[in-house]
Amino acid sequence: MFTFSKYHLATSLDDAYEVLLKNRNNAILGGTAYLRMGNRNLATAVDLSALNLDYIREEEGYIEIGAMTNFRSIETSELLLNNFGGVVARSVMDIVGVQLRNVVTVGATVFSRYGFSDFIPALLALNTVVVLQGAGEMTLEKFLESDVKRDILVAIRIEKNKRTGNYQTIRRSNSDYALLNVVTSNLDGDVRIVVGARPGRAVLAKEAMKYIEEKGLSAESIEEAGRIASEELEFTDNMRASGKYREAICKVMVKRSLGEVM
Ligand SMILES: Cc1cc2nc3c(=O)[nH]c(=O)nc-3n(C[C@H](O)[C@H](O)[C@H](O)COP(=O)(O)OP(=O)(O)OC[C@H]3O[C@@H](n4cnc5c(N)ncnc54)[C@H](O)[C@@H]3O)c2cc1C
Repeated sequence: MFTFSKYHLATSLDDAYEVLLKNRNNAILGGTAYLRMGNRNLATAVDLSALNLDYIREEEGYIEIGAMTNFRSIETSELLLNNFGGVVARSVMDIVGVQLRNVVTVGATVFSRYGFSDFIPALLALNTVVVLQGAGEMTLEKFLESDVKRDILVAIRIEKNKRTGNYQTIRRSNSDYALLNVVTSNLDGDVRIVVGARPGRAVLAKEAMKYIEEKGLSAESIEEAGRIASEELEFTDNMRASGKYREAICKVMVKRSLGEVM
């Protein structure tokens, strides 16, 4: 269980950011499900819940999701179910159970860049921008590679287009962490392939994407793209699966997923 000496209910994003930067032991509170699993002793806990950051809305050219939106709202959102082949909503549906999904937040998840995340790969397979209070806007891909540490994730923006997507996951049992997850998307032949829970952070399989760009989508090319993805990416061991096993299932999962968006 984590503890904190002071609690601060932020009155604005500027206020929250100022308090966060005052002490390296201050932290933002999301749904606190993950914080509760550790034993951090925080100086000041900064609560964003009065800042109206719990929303999913359509703007000109993109769908914006506020940092304090929980995963139950993601999985039941008509807007997300009806766009991108429903892949964003689908990506969170296997996470533990409804009670947990009612609590955990978008901002904490994306900012923490968890390697095991099911949500981040879906966002990476689409054109997603993160909005940070300090560092401003950047693509999700750039953010995942960046070393931004002390900041507040305010919202994410997903470009609204006709891109369709497919999400695949393999778990030892329902509600456990994924052994591997694969998300692909397709916008008129512009294909993105993401592999997550390797168990490292989700990445684009760029060689496999380049191959599909050259050859197009066909029964033969998706098989080859699966092979290329499994060879270009790094897979390592953890308590759930070996790197070798992950490499083997990656090949099949990429093929299956591409078959769905073909
Ligand atoms: C038991 C359990 C099982 C899980 N299983 C899965 C799973 O199978 N798949 C999966 O994808 N995920 C899983 N998760 C992770 C979950 O989906 C969330 O990603 C995670 O709990 C973080 O969300 P939170 O709201 O609880 O964050 P919190 O615990 O509130 O915060 C986590 C960290 O993020 C920081 N933070 C919070 N909000 C912000 C913000 N807006 N900007 C910047 N920093 C912020 C906090 O300071 C803290 O360091 C699991 C979590 C738990 C507790």
